[in-house]
Amino acid sequence: MARTRLPRRVSGVLCLNFVNTADYHATDRPVEYLVDPDVLVDWAVDAAALDVGLAAGVRAWVGGHRERAEAQLAGLLARREALYRVLLSLLPPGTSPAAEDRDLRLVADWVADARGHAVLVPGRPRWRWDWPAEATLARAWWPVAASAGDLLTGPGLEHLGVCDNPGCGGLYLDTSKNHSRRWCSMEVCGNAVKSRRHSARVRAGRGR
Ligand SMILES: [Zn+2]
Repeated sequence: MARTRLPRRVSGVLCLNFVNTADYHATDRPVEYLVDPDVLVDWAVDAAALDVGLAAGVRAWVGGHRERAEAQLAGLLARREALYRVLLSLLPPGTSPAAEDRDLRLVADWVADARGHAVLVPGRPRWRWDWPAEATLARAWWPVAASAGDLLTGPGLEHLGVCDNPGCGGLYLDTSKNHSRRWCSMEVCGNAVKSRRHSARVRAGRGR
C-alpha cells in the first residue's frame, strides 16, 4: 500500500513536530502533510503518540466515520495553525506579530480538553500520565495537545527557535550547548542555504 511521505521529525518535541507537518510554513503556500485522517494516524504512530495496536482500531474508526473524521482533521489543522502563530509570537520581539485572542483561546481550550482525557497510572515509585486506549481519531492528538501545554508552561520555551532558511518556518528547540542552532535540519535547510550562498558567491566572482 502506498504511503504518503511523512515529514522528518527534527524539532525534538512532539508538539513542534506536529506544527512542522506543514512544510514551507512561513510562506503563503505551505505544503500540507496531513492530507487526510489516515495520514494523521500514520503520523501519530511515527511520532510515538499512538501505538501500532491501537492505531489499527483508530483506522477502523476512521473508516466507519469518514465524514466526521475529515471534519475533526480540519478542526485539528485550525488548532495547529493557531498554535504555530502563538509559538511564533513568543519568539524574540520584532520577529512576529502578537497572537490574536482567538488563537490563544483555541490553543488553551484544545490543551485543556486533551488533558481532561489523561489518566494517572500508579507505578513504583513514580506514577505516570497516560491516555485511555480509545479507538477514536481524537486519541491521536491528545498527547500532542498535552505536549503543547507542557511546552507553553515549561522551561523548554526559552529554547524555542525558528529555522533561518527563508520560508521554511520550521520550529525546533535549541538544546545545543551554546544556543547556536539555526536550522530545523542541517541536512535540509542548512545545506540548502549554504549551497545558495556558495552559488551566489560564484556568480559574483564571475561578474568581476
Ligand atoms: Zn528549515
